[in-house]
Amino acid sequence: MSRYDYDLFVIGAGSGGVRAARMSAGYGARVAIAEEYRVGGTCVIRGCVPKKLLVYASRFAEEFEDAAGFGWSVGEARFDWATLIANKDAEIARLEAIYSRNLQNSGVEIIASRAVLRDAHTVHLVAEGRDVTADYILIATGGRPAFDDRVKGIEHAISSNEAFHLEEKPERVAIVGGGYIAVEFAGIFNGLGAETTLIYRGPEILRGFDDDLRQALHEEMAAKGVSIVTNRVFTRIDECGDGLEGELDDGTLVNVDQIMFATGRLPNTIGLDLERTGVELGWNGHVVVDAYSRSSVPNIFAVGDVTHRVNLTPVAIREGAAFAETVFNDNPTAVDHSLIPTAVFSQPELGTVGLTEMQAREMCRVTDIYRASFRPMKGTLSGRGEKMLMKLIVDGESDRVVGCHIMGPDAGEMIQLAGVAIGMGATKADFDRTIAVHPTAAEELVTMRERTERHVREDALDHENDVPAPSMVVAATPGHRADHPTIAVRPALPEDAAVLSRIYLFAWQAAIGGHLPGKAWRIVRDDKPQDAMIAALGDKIVVATLGGTPVGFAAATDEPCALSELWVEPSAWRRGVGTALVTALEAGARSAGCTTLTAELLAANHRAQKFLAARGFSVLCDETRRDDLLDADIDWTVMAKPLA
Ligand SMILES: Cc1cc2nc3c(=O)[nH]c(=O)nc-3n(C[C@H](O)[C@H](O)[C@H](O)COP(=O)(O)OP(=O)(O)OC[C@H]3O[C@@H](n4cnc5c(N)ncnc54)[C@H](O)[C@@H]3O)c2cc1C
Repeated sequence: MSRYDYDLFVIGAGSGGVRAARMSAGYGARVAIAEEYRVGGTCVIRGCVPKKLLVYASRFAEEFEDAAGFGWSVGEARFDWATLIANKDAEIARLEAIYSRNLQNSGVEIIASRAVLRDAHTVHLVAEGRDVTADYILIATGGRPAFDDRVKGIEHAISSNEAFHLEEKPERVAIVGGGYIAVEFAGIFNGLGAETTLIYRGPEILRGFDDDLRQALHEEMAAKGVSIVTNRVFTRIDECGDGLEGELDDGTLVNVDQIMFATGRLPNTIGLDLERTGVELGWNGHVVVDAYSRSSVPNIFAVGDVTHRVNLTPVAIREGAAFAETVFNDNPTAVDHSLIPTAVFSQPELGTVGLTEMQAREMCRVTDIYRASFRPMKGTLSGRGEKMLMKLIVDGESDRVVGCHIMGPDAGEMIQLAGVAIGMGATKADFDRTIAVHPTAAEELVTMRERTERHVREDALDHENDVPAPSMVVAATPGHRADHPTIAVRPALPEDAAVLSRIYLFAWQAAIGGHLPGKAWRIVRDDKPQDAMIAALGDKIVVATLGGTPVGFAAATDEPCALSELWVEPSAWRRGVGTALVTALEAGARSAGCTTLTAELLAANHRAQKFLAARGFSVLCDETRRDDLLDADIDWTVMAKPLA
């Protein structure tokens, strides 16, 4: 007889929690799940599902227009927001009931309450005012929309949560953000006839996606009537008559009915009392977990958005399943977070998997680009000029397809299958010998014979060596022109972690690729080494920013005469960012009285090695060390430079 009420208590009945609960119960565990809002979680109740329904709704306006070219006369089309929302709500209620039924049929007890932790084995049920105990606790509480509290009057803005329940369709709407939720909602409101403005603080929407896709989507969205304002933020929002008046940081006034913030999401850990149990939280409040989703407290695990790994439903589901396998089926299972195919239900739609061109150009010595841009067949009779874009990124040495990026109708459907092929290690030759399905748009993926571009990494490196070194320790090189933004070098801040993570994970991919042929980008684990690094090294990590955005970093070791690791985002090498970082470190070492600056680099970090060699560093030795995280032997190169 167990000392606990349950073998497993799951907090949060969303994508990850539900999967973990059902599978664990299937393996014989006594499971309860607490949900404070509605069973199904973000995805079902106010995320993927209702959003896709709204996307479908918003596409009809174009369909009616396109029908004319095919001989149809469609009468006056009218749209009723209330009908759409009511039908959407009915569908969500149906799905919620199915989720609840499936949990019950699996033997999981559902508790409609907020749950918080008392200690490592005790959960307090707020609605019921009682405590229960469990051997294992799984935190699957997801995330919540983040608002920028520096904006005066931010309380007048809504998030995607409220957008699904507006009583009326706004006639004029401003969406703030440049991520996938922002561009999707811009497409929804624009398609439904609202005057739509997308306001983003960065230079281009969809940061992190392939640059060609970002630009192409920007152009197509603008052509459809979305007004896209970049490099701007709201400074204040006031009520104004029936609507809102917002002011941008350049003084422009924006008068709309609704302002929706889609500026990221934060992990739902506030008020869970995790501190009582000693569960370690990361830089933005996420639960820090290992590859098996175990937190710093051995019997407490966490999956899904609350761990801030890859915030997507299928990932949360996979993590939930891996948890059940690991804990209740004696089958330790880590989730592979590399190569996740994903779609953006923007208009036009995007599908993407693998490396972007810039990532590939950093990781591969030779990168081949195959690109096709064409008008889909339907556009011939409809007269719609919208272009479709397809892009394959190929490792020019191994012929492996390492990335695929699609913009156009059904891109999300196509990328699912491209993901299978690329995950299996398909080469460009494999794509080429696959017979096309005709007439489709997807056939372009197997008929792109002519290489559009080839990039050889050394060229860029040589160019970097030509960049004159700015003189500074922790300083800035002011940009003279718009295309020469300021480079600054400063100690790392907690908010850099996300960007450092991206740069560093790619670095691991590149580094490990040489040791485990064919698995280069699969080896990336869900650990966040940069979190640990920032915590451990504090201000010994220096970050280079380009126009304010972190683009590279170097980690100094315990003493100022040595640096370990030097990583720079691919495109930033050519802007002199490596030069700025190393100049700052050399100056710091000099002022600390060092006569030599030593650099310890992953042996596969050829780019940094060549760069340092060009700056007067010579190789001291090559070493092999065991890396516990990766369970692999990793080669290191130690270089040094005498300081005058
Ligand atoms: C607008 C929008 C669109 C999206 N579109 C997509 C998409 O197209 N594709 C995709 O893959 N992903 C999409 N996502 C992301 C996806 O919804 C999440 O990645 C996914 O839901 C994460 O699952 P989860 O189990 O981690 O958390 P969630 O699904 O968020 O579930 C967490 C649950 O925990 C509950 N909870 C929180 N705290 C407590 C507590 N203390 N006690 C009890 N219950 C608690 C919450 O009420 C919630 O039901 C979208 C998200 C949004 C917001």
